[in-house]
Amino acid sequence: MYRVLKFGGSSVGSATNMSRVLDIVEQEAQKGRVVLVSSAISGCTDALEALAAGGALDPSLRRRHEEIVRRLFTGAERTSLLEQLDALFGELLRAPAEEKPTYGELFSTHILEAKLRSEGYRTLWLDARKLLIKGDIPLSYSNIRDAVAASDAEIFVVPGFICGTPEGGVTTLGRGGSDYSAALFAAALEAESLQIWTDVPGIMTANPRQVRRARTIPAMSYGAALQMASHGAKVLYAPTVAPAMAAGIAIEIRNTFDPAGGKTVIGAMTGQEGLVGIASATKGDQVEVCLVGGASAEEAARALAAAGIAPLRSRVEEGNLLLTLRPAVEIPALKALHRAFFESMPLQRVPVFVAGYGAVGKALVQLIPESSATVAERTGKQLFLAGIADSKRYSIDLGGHCGSLADAPAHADDFIQAVCSLAPKGAVFVDCTDSETLYQRFPELFAAGIHVVTSNRRSLAVPYVQYAALKAAARENGVHFRYETTVGAALPFLESISRETNSCDEIDSIEAVVSCTLNQILSTYRPGGESFATLVRRAQEEGLTERDPRIDLGGRDALRKLMILAREAGVRLEEGDVAVEPVIPAAIFERPFEEFYPALEAYEPVFARQMRAAEAQGFRRRFVAYLEKDGDGFRSSIGLRNVSPVHPAYHLQGTENAIIIRSAFHPYPLVIQGPGEGAREAASSILNDLIR
Ligand code: ASP
Ligand code: MG
Repeated sequence: MYRVLKFGGSSVGSATNMSRVLDIVEQEAQKGRVVLVSSAISGCTDALEALAAGGALDPSLRRRHEEIVRRLFTGAERTSLLEQLDALFGELLRAPAEEKPTYGELFSTHILEAKLRSEGYRTLWLDARKLLIKGDIPLSYSNIRDAVAASDAEIFVVPGFICGTPEGGVTTLGRGGSDYSAALFAAALEAESLQIWTDVPGIMTANPRQVRRARTIPAMSYGAALQMASHGAKVLYAPTVAPAMAAGIAIEIRNTFDPAGGKTVIGAMTGQEGLVGIASATKGDQVEVCLVGGASAEEAARALAAAGIAPLRSRVEEGNLLLTLRPAVEIPALKALHRAFFESMPLQRVPVFVAGYGAVGKALVQLIPESSATVAERTGKQLFLAGIADSKRYSIDLGGHCGSLADAPAHADDFIQAVCSLAPKGAVFVDCTDSETLYQRFPELFAAGIHVVTSNRRSLAVPYVQYAALKAAARENGVHFRYETTVGAALPFLESISRETNSCDEIDSIEAVVSCTLNQILSTYRPGGESFATLVRRAQEEGLTERDPRIDLGGRDALRKLMILAREAGVRLEEGDVAVEPVIPAAIFERPFEEFYPALEAYEPVFARQMRAAEAQGFRRRFVAYLEKDGDGFRSSIGLRNVSPVHPAYHLQGTENAIIIRSAFHPYPLVIQGPGEGAREAASSILNDLIR
């Protein structure tokens, strides 16, 4: 049984590479008789063609061969091989021009044969010029069979590329022809294996020198290989396919530099093959790109258009899609086509569990299916709702049909536990509740490999040790814990702070207007118009305040937000560190709730006076949370402040929020301002946290 191994020019291009080749050959020799077909060393045939065309012989050519011999042999063997090379180079110079290109394969194969012989193998160098007769396949086959049958060699060494003419002359099989030589030997001997060893891992979806992301095609039909080769894939010489196919021998394309790595097996394939790969070839002053196996012309046009490329022509031929292009756009076009047809990663399904079915939870449950196609296209992640819960009931369906909560049976047992045991790693749990305690269960989720996104600021405005423990638990389990919506709703406040902090910039101060309620009230209030109490009551009715508006007026909501902002900047702020001045005197809060609004009405004259005084000086009143560097530490406060027209907060309207970050690196502050509320906005920001 015969195994035919062909090595290309770069595989034999140096002594080191030749040693790799010898290793591979010796391993194969244990399985059967080996026919080793070799190209000339890399660059050799080009140099010989230049010589044949009347140029001088590149002196480096002889030097490279001698160098290989010196590295592979010692003593008498070295001397004798150097003499043989000397004789061959002498012959080369005397040879007729048309025979000069055939010498490269003589040089390389004599070296390989001598080396294998010196290692103790029974070898035979076969003169392809006598055996392969151009244009006469039957004669070539019988010559090969006879030559091999007459020998007891374990390894036959054959120069590729070169052959004889019927008239007794010497010629070649065309550039790249060693592959074809190998296929002819394999077919003649009905070889059990035909291996083309090259410097890439098989035939790839595109030329890896042009498209970095090209990947190996593990298997393809003879037909597809022929199409790839005929349309410009240099890895295989097109005529190689026919003899192998006729003899029913599979062709393996393998990488000398990574024998255990990727390879392509070309054989008879049944069934639909579809798009196989992309090849391209220069045709005159144009480039023709071939999508072998065919592809949608519209999709190709769309991919090219997105890269700003318009093909000159496009046509379908033998099931392939052919696009004619200007040479200047060849590489970007190949990349765009490859991206469109070969780089679409399988979508990663990400189950999302939503706890809390208030305004934000509902908006999120709606938004997930609505945005899923766009998100999938842009991120490769397919989000789907796998569970929802309110405080009484929950519904889970990993198939994505968890339906509405209304028809879910009330469960006594708990949602988080169910999520932990059912959800796969990489799922996401979203806390849209206003629970004060749910965060205590986050570590269970983290341990189950589940990411957590929360819009519930109560989860973070906890004592610092607990906050730090939560973040550490997420980190240790390699999951994300995100909470951008806890401050400034959809505005990227936290992201901006953590970016500055992570880049080792030092935050000098943070000024934040983060209470929608108060900003709404303060930016509408006019002394003498509707009273402060009326505006508060309206805000409460519109659902703008916390359930108890005193949480807003007392600054408690702003306090939570400031703690989160400060901690994002690396400051271990605790509740007690912040000097909070409520909008109205503490006395008004301390009364029972029924007395709250009457007390607030009674306070109106004082409030109006303060507002008038500020206005008279050209100021506006804003409720500002403030954190500022103070010596080694930080000072923080929350309260009503007068802001002048040059202050970014002066122009805030309605429920807008703003943050002003000053840091050591930047002479000017970073200012972010925009809508500070809205369930839909919050939901879309949560979605961002989900896919980031
Ligand atoms: N040495 C020849 C060439 O460079 C044949 C081959 O490598 O296949 O074209
Ligand atoms: Mg080749």
